[in-house]
Amino acid sequence: MTLDQLNQASAADFVALLDGTYEHSPWIAERAAAARPFKSLAALKVALARVVREASVDEQLGLIRAHPELAGKAAVAGELTAESTNEQQKAGLTACTPEEFAKLQKLNADYNARFGFPFILAVRGPRGTGFTRAEIIATFERRLRAHPDLERAECLRQIHRIAEIRLNDKFGVKPELGEQLWDWAAALAAHSDTEDFLTCTYATPAHTAVAEQLMAWMRECGFDEVSRDAVGNVVGLYKGTGDKTLLTGSHYDTVRRAGRFDGRLGIFVPMLVVRELHRQGKRLPFGLEVVGFSEEEGQRYPADFLGSSALIGSFQPAWLDQTDAAGITLRDAMQAAGLPGTMQAIQTVKRDASRYLGFVEAHIEQGPVLDSLDLPLGIVTSINGSRRYTGEIIGLASHAGTTPMGQRRDAAAGVAELILFTEQRAAAVPDVVGTVGMLEVPSGSINVIPGRCRFSLDLRATTDDARDALDADVRAKLDEICERRGLSYTLQPTLAANAAPSDATWQSRWEAAVAQLGLPIHRLPSGAGHDAMKIHELLPQAMLFVRGGNGGISHNPLESVTVDDAELSIRAFERLLDTL
Ligand SMILES: [Zn+2]
Repeated sequence: MTLDQLNQASAADFVALLDGTYEHSPWIAERAAAARPFKSLAALKVALARVVREASVDEQLGLIRAHPELAGKAAVAGELTAESTNEQQKAGLTACTPEEFAKLQKLNADYNARFGFPFILAVRGPRGTGFTRAEIIATFERRLRAHPDLERAECLRQIHRIAEIRLNDKFGVKPELGEQLWDWAAALAAHSDTEDFLTCTYATPAHTAVAEQLMAWMRECGFDEVSRDAVGNVVGLYKGTGDKTLLTGSHYDTVRRAGRFDGRLGIFVPMLVVRELHRQGKRLPFGLEVVGFSEEEGQRYPADFLGSSALIGSFQPAWLDQTDAAGITLRDAMQAAGLPGTMQAIQTVKRDASRYLGFVEAHIEQGPVLDSLDLPLGIVTSINGSRRYTGEIIGLASHAGTTPMGQRRDAAAGVAELILFTEQRAAAVPDVVGTVGMLEVPSGSINVIPGRCRFSLDLRATTDDARDALDADVRAKLDEICERRGLSYTLQPTLAANAAPSDATWQSRWEAAVAQLGLPIHRLPSGAGHDAMKIHELLPQAMLFVRGGNGGISHNPLESVTVDDAELSIRAFERLLDTL
């Protein structure tokens, strides 16, 4: 099937051509027909998903209920559609052991009793080659505990993924670049500080092995120069015909129990772009310099952004004397990893801004926004500025039975009021967030009114003004609460980071690139910090976000990107280069 065929067909033929894409639900194609012509297969997928988003809840439930149970009675009786039979067979669900079969029957029954619709999972998964039966059962068990509204939305997203794979089959399309990215991510994840989960912290043997693997792949891709610099950044240069260079990349270190795509996706995307340019024997009018930043997450040492700080010349000499949990200084760790560990060497990493056009970074969103909108790509408007504090409210620990309600000085109740205020105040302004993530009554007892309550505060916004306004209001409220309740408090600032708004020109280039793929332009702020936030001090920057699956979860082994979305991010990067 081709896009031209679909675009030119009568409405009835259009529906017939898409038969089987959405299980027993021709109404989706019927309503999408009016949105033709579609510029790309990706545009068609987004349009079909939009019809479902805009449908009534009853229609959405009807779509979910049109699907068979996994390894259910219909599957056993051979009563499924050809598409479903094929998918369940490929996932090995027709070859369950008796125990697995019994387990799945029990899960099906429990799930249906809780939600009133069948469990939906795109069994071919984000890679397209299929989950194992163990993975399917684990996902089933996890989702059985979800909130009903969230679970209904997740079922619909799984249905869109099923439709995506069916459309790829109909069109004879294979997202080969996305598949390569996915396989690289899986191969790199084999290098870990621990055996059970992916953990790759700075200057460990796993970290060095990742750097070596990235360098080997960069050479295979056709980069002209590949090296590891004095802070362990992996740097690949693909020379252009002109003098200037575009800088790009992201980090290859991870948090503990990490996902595979955080950071690494932003290294792989331009690597694959270079591989394609090299295969075609093409040179750009500018060089492309891809940096795999060695450290961004701040896991092993108190200082973070070690890699990008060195690039902008803000690496602090005192950091070399910081120690990790085992008492090893950063200097010693660097030297054990084969790096010089001297400021003299680190200073050579600093870039001369006049040689560069700017900095761009592709990154997994690490949040639920794109996933909930059924959009594969988003354009970042600003990396949030933040302020963080640790604090304590001090009241009076007294007897829970004998102290009347009007005569208490309850420290925890004071913090509770502050939490609710922070939540309401942040929610009142778009793109502003406030969180109390740590909360503790030191040596509290069930029959004692809390005399002390420790807490943390994390305030973020897209502009420094919005962040500072939130900050001022929250601190004024803290004052007022303590005054009224007869409490006192301490508050120590632990971090202040300025917002990094995207450069308007570079942001519009990302927007043009995404539009050329036939996709809607969705702009969103980045709530998380990124290497681009540091490079912002040196060069104009803008970021592209890629949808994360499983509700956008990140810093977690459940972090996920489909090969189709990965492919789109690579294609967007190619279009961005074309606009220069
Ligand atoms: Zn990251």
